[in-house]
Amino acid sequence: MKLVTYELAGAVSLGVIDPQAGMIHPLSESESAYGNEMVSLIKRHTTLNTILATEAVRIALEEVKLLAPIPCPAKNIFCVGKNYFEHAQEFTQSGFDATSKRGDNVPDNPIIFTKAPTTVTAPGDDVPCHDAVSAQLDYEAELAVIIGQGGRGITKAEAYDHVFGYTITNDVTARDLQLKHRQWFIGKSLDGTCPMGPWIASADEIDAENLSIRCWINGELRQNANSRDLIFDIPTLIETLSAGIRLEPGDIISTGTPAGVGIGFDPPRFLAPGDVMKIEIDGLGTLENRIAKTA
Ligand code: MG
Repeated sequence: MKLVTYELAGAVSLGVIDPQAGMIHPLSESESAYGNEMVSLIKRHTTLNTILATEAVRIALEEVKLLAPIPCPAKNIFCVGKNYFEHAQEFTQSGFDATSKRGDNVPDNPIIFTKAPTTVTAPGDDVPCHDAVSAQLDYEAELAVIIGQGGRGITKAEAYDHVFGYTITNDVTARDLQLKHRQWFIGKSLDGTCPMGPWIASADEIDAENLSIRCWINGELRQNANSRDLIFDIPTLIETLSAGIRLEPGDIISTGTPAGVGIGFDPPRFLAPGDVMKIEIDGLGTLENRIAKTA
C-alpha cells in the first residue's frame, strides 16, 4: 500500500495512490477519524490491512497537489551522517567535515543529527536557494524509515516490527554552514531543505535492504547506489536511537546518503538556482524538486 497526503480544492486528505494508473483513492469514510493526519493513521497501523480506500472513488493524480506524506512532523527528523563507505570517504576527504580528521573515514558508531520539522518540502515544490546565507547548497538522496509502533530499547531483532514504511528524502545541506558551525544542525536545517515523498510505501511491500537509490541533477546521474551498502543498517539505527530515546509513531529516520554528492567532486559542484534534483528509489517513486531562483 502506498499512502499519500494530498490537497484538492483547498482541503488536505489522505489517500492510497496507484502510481501505475495515475490515480488516488481517498480513504474510506470509516477512516475519516484520521482526518488529514498521516501520523494519526500510523498510530493505528495494525489496522493497515483494513484501511480502506474507497475503491469506487478515483481521483486523477494530475488533479491534486501531493504534499510531503508527513508535511508537519511533530519533531525533528533523525538523520544519519556518513553511512555509506564511499560517501564517508568523499565527505572526509572534501575538507567540509568539521567533525573528523582527514583519513578518519568510517565512523565507529552511527553519527546522528537532526533536521528541523520546518525543513519538510512537498514533492515538486521549489527548495529556497538561501543565497543570503549560503553559497554551497548540496543534495543528498536518502531512504527514510517511518516508525510505526513506538518504543524504547528496541533490539535489532525487533526493529523491523517497528517500521511502518519507507519514503524518499533529500537531505539538502548548506556545506559552508555545516563546516562553519561544526555541529551540523544549522547547515542541515534551513527552511525547506528536506523534500520528502511522493508517498509512504508500507513495509510489507519493500525490501529495505536491497533498494536501488539514484539521484540526477539536471538529468545527469550523480548518485547510484544500493541500500544494502549502508554501514549501519536499519535495525542498528533503530536499536541505537531507541536505546535511550523513545521512538514514536510517525518518527522519520533518514538513513544517510551514498557517494556522488556535490562535494565529492573536485572542484565541488554545488547547486545553483534553477537546478533540478531528481531522486528515485525502487518502490518509492520519484522525488523531484528545483532550487528556487530566489531566496
Ligand atoms: Mg544526509
